[in-house]
Amino acid sequence: MNTPLSGSALVLFSGGQDSTVCLARALARYAHVETIGFDYGQRHAIELEVRKTVLAQLPTVMSDVLSGSVGTLGNDHMLQLSTLAEISDTALTREVEIEMTDAGLPSTFVPGRNILFLTYAAAVGYRRKITTLVGGMCETDYSGYPDCRRETLDALEIALSKGMDTPVTIETPLMYIDKAQTWAMAHELGGDALVDLIIADTHTCYLGDRSNRHAWGYGCGECPACKLRANGWAKWKV
Ligand code: ZN
Repeated sequence: MNTPLSGSALVLFSGGQDSTVCLARALARYAHVETIGFDYGQRHAIELEVRKTVLAQLPTVMSDVLSGSVGTLGNDHMLQLSTLAEISDTALTREVEIEMTDAGLPSTFVPGRNILFLTYAAAVGYRRKITTLVGGMCETDYSGYPDCRRETLDALEIALSKGMDTPVTIETPLMYIDKAQTWAMAHELGGDALVDLIIADTHTCYLGDRSNRHAWGYGCGECPACKLRANGWAKWKV
């Protein structure tokens, strides 16, 4: 007999590989799970399309694997943050080449993006009485975004908890693992069915390519996001 699940979580869900693994993990651990996504003028709205497909399929996949012992997937909160595009000048929101900037960061970096996302998530969570936020931030082999680091999120956790006068937790299950370990976690959580769903229906490619299917999923195969995903896949398969 499985112990009944308890508690609730709000997962930052983009439709990519990382946030899909985080959502699968949350469904396996919490009785009630909601998702939040942000439309901030991404250059490729494909992300927003695939997230609907994943949301529709993931609960069934996880329920089959865990014999029904999964949390319920509740509301999906989609927030319009077009202001973020106005104040950013980056490769994800405009036709700018992906390259390293003078600050040593890739031009895909939207300054402070995760701080904004988590603050909005905490505000939505407060109203929904959900104080556990889950995000796929990772400081291991990501691109060095300073707002993905655990140190930043620890500080934000304190700021949000004080600012809302309620204990807010930011869970980052992928923080210290690499992409190969993320594939391994997906397989551990949901077996081949979850891995197959990630390959077929999640989107990571910065260029929005859905025409080339590889063993690891769709993408151009050349951008930094595709390379990370492909290299992680290759390493996991070994
Ligand atoms: Zn790509």
